[in-house]
Amino acid sequence: MSKEDYDIVIGLEVHSELSTKTKIFCSCPTEFGGEPNTHCCPVCMAMPGALPVLNKKVVEYAIKAGIATNCTIAKESKNDRKNYFYPDLPKSYQISQFDMPLCTNGFVEIETENGPKKIRLVRIHIEEDAGKLNHDEYGRGSLVDLNRAGVPLIEIVSEPDISSASEAEAYLKKLKSILEYIEVSDCKMQEGSLRADVNVSVKKKGTDELGTRTEMKNMNSFRSIVRAIEYESERQIEVLENGGIITQETLRWDDVSGKTFSMRDKEDAQDYRYFPEPDLAMIRISDEYVQKISKTLPEMPEKRKARYIEELGLPEYDANILTSSKHLSDLFERANNVCNNPKAVSNWIMSDIIKILNEEGIEADKLPFSAEQLGKLINLIDKKTISTSIAKTVLEEMTVNPKDPEEIIKEKGLIQISDEGAIKEIVLKILEENPQSIADYKAGRDRALGFLVGQAMKQTKGKANPQMLNTMFLEELKK
Ligand code: ADP
Ligand code: ZN
Ligand code: MG
Repeated sequence: MSKEDYDIVIGLEVHSELSTKTKIFCSCPTEFGGEPNTHCCPVCMAMPGALPVLNKKVVEYAIKAGIATNCTIAKESKNDRKNYFYPDLPKSYQISQFDMPLCTNGFVEIETENGPKKIRLVRIHIEEDAGKLNHDEYGRGSLVDLNRAGVPLIEIVSEPDISSASEAEAYLKKLKSILEYIEVSDCKMQEGSLRADVNVSVKKKGTDELGTRTEMKNMNSFRSIVRAIEYESERQIEVLENGGIITQETLRWDDVSGKTFSMRDKEDAQDYRYFPEPDLAMIRISDEYVQKISKTLPEMPEKRKARYIEELGLPEYDANILTSSKHLSDLFERANNVCNNPKAVSNWIMSDIIKILNEEGIEADKLPFSAEQLGKLINLIDKKTISTSIAKTVLEEMTVNPKDPEEIIKEKGLIQISDEGAIKEIVLKILEENPQSIADYKAGRDRALGFLVGQAMKQTKGKANPQMLNTMFLEELKK
């Protein structure tokens, strides 16, 4: 037997921090970072007698996420205590939801090699985040920072419907994009606002019974998740092939060695002694409330994609990339509102802009220049004020010195030479300097024309209008 004889089975538990202004059970700010223990009050520090009050926005955001992922929204829901001891959890329990989550039975559709696939969601529930431990680098101890304690989370639990590392990646990217579209989370993975517990098992092809799973907790990079799944599924297959058995355990993925290590086993034996949170009332949700929230949902990626293809005439490939992130797609729309040239905006975004985003490691909303300025730049090309190659120079300048493109062009004297007299002068000069090219062209070597145009562009520092150069060179050569 070999790798090909096994199916990989993956289920993800995704935690996403909600971008409400205040925490889930008190009015402390949710803002990331800050001096340790400055975003805290008796409630989130678990002082005796402090009582939680549920933040209504948290319920609203979770329901938004539920609607956007095709879930059923519960009419009645409640909070429960999940008991465990850990130094970053001062109450010794986390307020979460056990048997009555806010949302159930949804799905998220992803694109796979074999077409679209639905990944079913078991549930989405609300809970509070824990604090953070800062381990002293000299090993003298650990300090607790409770700024994050009580930041609202939703946990999105998938069915084990995911069958490969690339499907897991597609699912996470889709989920991230949905949460960004509905603006309930900033999904900054490097800040931990989106993180996943990755459950992996393998089974012989054709059998229905699931294998024993292992779990890797709190992973927050697509790349590590893909590598971890590939490594872990191969490790499990090898164990089984050698007659061994998989034990259900929590593993730690180590990015440096590219391996998983055991953290604790017998996960099943963990008993959280869940019980209803006695300090909070039942959450009752009316149909009207759900409908009201439903109406506030923006156009979702699927719909936008269809609109880009049908109304704006973009290729599916472009539409896919542009709508993969709300920030990117907003940039596209706002730039296009200025220049009304969808394909040109798309080309600029998919080449130069995405390159800048990757180099800077930022999202499209953090570009130094505005979408409107990008639109104006494209307008200038369309009006033939500048050539595409000059536009690239202007864009480079815009990233370090975010001014209107017109201003940059004026300052740097980059306006395209489109005056017939001026172009003719350049053409004649270049021809005079390159008699060999004239001879080559006349001898049938068409490439000589390209060379001449190139020389003219070089001498004018890219400012000459290339179409005019072409036509005029041809005219002269044919004389
Ligand atoms: P917990 O990990 O908190 O005990 P669950 O038992 O509900 O929670 O399972 C958590 C996740 O593990 C779910 O996303 C589920 O799809 C996934 N899962 C369950 N069984 C398997 C399995 N055999 N292989 C892979 N994933 C699994
Ligand atoms: Zn507080
Ligand atoms: Mg789990």
